[in-house]
Amino acid sequence: MVRELTDNHDQLWNGYSQVFLEMDDLSLARWMAQTLGQFSGHAWRLSHPLLMTYELAAHAAHDRQIWLKGMGIIPAEYTAAECCRAPLLPVLSRDVFNFGLVCKHCGETCVAFADLPEELKPRIDKWSSDYDEAHGVAHWEEDGKKLPPDYDKLFELAAQSAEKLLAQAGSELAPSLLELYPAVAWEDQDECLEVRPEDVDI
Ligand SMILES: [Zn+2]
Repeated sequence: MVRELTDNHDQLWNGYSQVFLEMDDLSLARWMAQTLGQFSGHAWRLSHPLLMTYELAAHAAHDRQIWLKGMGIIPAEYTAAECCRAPLLPVLSRDVFNFGLVCKHCGETCVAFADLPEELKPRIDKWSSDYDEAHGVAHWEEDGKKLPPDYDKLFELAAQSAEKLLAQAGSELAPSLLELYPAVAWEDQDECLEVRPEDVDI
């Protein structure tokens, strides 16, 4: 799952990454293991600063193949993800139906939708199709659909639906995944519908 980001954004985040790029492999692995310990037992907003910071560390570790080489320390409660051998930290996003749960470390699918527990699939499937319907409103124009005169109102209603659905992801779906994984993260914004993390109230 790759979302478009601007060059300026990348440049800024590369700068932020320096703190981890300067760490040696062992220090980086220790920082990650300790932080994973803090993540344990909770469903985290993707916008949480600690999780965003962890993402920088995860990218640095992934580039240096710390997990593939077995140099990292996997905390006891975590298992190694099949995609990149890093501790399994799945992310629930609006792309869950097509991409499954996404690995926080390498960005690949770490749990395919088909591999989710049977009892969770119908809820997540329903959530995902409701979400697609709301999200699609933001893309009507590029999808070649003629915009109705009251499009602004429809856009606002779709954004309100997305806020409610994201809140449901954070308060119901992500916590139910904690029965399977020590920690999970969930996407708490929608840039296309202009929904910010602070709009998603749980
Ligand atoms: Zn991975």
